[in-house]
Amino acid sequence: AETFALSPLEAAQDALRKVWGYPAFRGMQADIVEHVVAGGDALVLMPTGGGKSLCYQIPALVRPGVGIVVSPLIALMRDQVDALRQLGVRAAYLNSTLDWREAQEVERACERGDLDLLYVAPERLVTPRFLELLDRSRIALFALDEAHCVSQWGHDFRPEYLQLSILHEKFPDVPRVALTATADAQTRTDIAARLGLTDARLFLASFDRPNITYRILPKDQERRQLLDFLRRRPEDAGVVYCLSRGKVDAIAQYLAEQGVDALPYHAGLDPATRQANQDRFIKGEGVVMVATVAFGMGIDKPNVRFVVHMDPPRSLEAYYQETGRAGRDGLPAEALMLYGFADVVQMQMMVESSDSPPAFKRTERQKLEALLGFCETARCRRQTLLTYFDEEYPKPCGKCDTCFQPVETYDGTVVAQKALSAVYRTGQRFGVGHLVDVLRGVATDKVTEKGHDKLKTFGCGTELGKQEWHSVFRQLVANGLLCADPEGHGGLILTETATAVLKSQEVVRLRRDPAAEAKGKGKASW
Ligand code: ADP
Ligand code: ZN
Repeated sequence: AETFALSPLEAAQDALRKVWGYPAFRGMQADIVEHVVAGGDALVLMPTGGGKSLCYQIPALVRPGVGIVVSPLIALMRDQVDALRQLGVRAAYLNSTLDWREAQEVERACERGDLDLLYVAPERLVTPRFLELLDRSRIALFALDEAHCVSQWGHDFRPEYLQLSILHEKFPDVPRVALTATADAQTRTDIAARLGLTDARLFLASFDRPNITYRILPKDQERRQLLDFLRRRPEDAGVVYCLSRGKVDAIAQYLAEQGVDALPYHAGLDPATRQANQDRFIKGEGVVMVATVAFGMGIDKPNVRFVVHMDPPRSLEAYYQETGRAGRDGLPAEALMLYGFADVVQMQMMVESSDSPPAFKRTERQKLEALLGFCETARCRRQTLLTYFDEEYPKPCGKCDTCFQPVETYDGTVVAQKALSAVYRTGQRFGVGHLVDVLRGVATDKVTEKGHDKLKTFGCGTELGKQEWHSVFRQLVANGLLCADPEGHGGLILTETATAVLKSQEVVRLRRDPAAEAKGKGKASW
């Protein structure tokens, strides 16, 4: 990097125009760049596609010395460095893919001052060898990309990140900029504390992704629902996320049989196939990638038109991050989630039966509650999502399923009491399928065998259909009245709050499921 005879901001704008060919900074970029060029620390929270890279790349050019970029995305380093070199920026990377000789050449260039930017993996950065190299080099700044990886509350925790606080101790005068696209208030505090960034200025960009339309549907023949969705946008490229590898394979095969240009992607595929599928998705037109969440972190394809979740994501952060891979080009994009009762139970079991320490479990439980609440909300999805990220969004967005089709809520106290007493009278051991049979008075073999056709609750709930009861049970779990018994193979048990409802001390408001309704009237909801 060289020094300019311009003010820092002018020098930065000059680089933006001459090197990148962009006319102006976007959003908070100018403020961040100015702050970092002046030597300040920064914590930058900006949504995916918001333009985080320039926030450290340009200061690295403007400030004397080399900008050290810590990134966990080894697979992307080469692409990023190639792109920078094309622009004439002197960039290089150090990671395990280089041989000894190549690495040495990069190190020499670094200490000679021949580099503007050096990308490095976190585990390498804290090695004595690399720290000595830093001692011998002039450093413009440290950029810590994907900074949420330092937090155990986040969803991509990387222990190596914890050691990055060493940078502050060893190089107190070098500005540091930590960047992430995903962090709730708790994770944010955690990042600042763990990276020693408590005095850093926080740059919090709006997390709204106005071009993404959010929809969440109860599962009801999920393959059919997926196919309907895809058939409506046959030209579009998108990602379909599934929880397990097995499901990825099955769905990809099913779609291919139905004539959809779909490919699987998960960590169990051999590397060559994985790479080939990824390349086809990125370079091809209208390819549908069926994948586990292993796919996507750092995949830079601007025209992903949709993201479908066949199973709910782990948390709202994960949902935001994963849906955020759609529409990075700013054009309209869709996010669709399908979720069913079994998913809710499974997720609860995962949290409750894990061996995590209590504090961790409490956080996980809160995150799950937030996710379920989001799925079951009658409010605008975007408002709910942004509120979760502590951002105010005063009016309903007009571009999500609950805005398109306002959800009716009703006094569901009696319905809830019926459901809860069915759980109670059957001994808090059964799953939703059986409970709904009991409520609707369906004398299956299991029902008669257990003598549940003799219960008072048998047949007391004929006013609702099967799907509607499923919706009620999901909401009772989401509202914390029922939970999955961690030892009970999906059996439901009452929580303490359920007692108040059973005693009519508390009113329960429920949403009427638009999908179940629409289905009854024979029309699709999208
Ligand atoms: P993030 O890392 O936040 O997901 P990127 O840094 O990859 O986002 O930027 C997203 C896209 O926006 C890139 O294609 C980038 O070149 C482009 N971009 C960023 N800043 C600007 C700007 N000021 N003017 C025009 N394009 C920009
Ligand atoms: Zn809305």
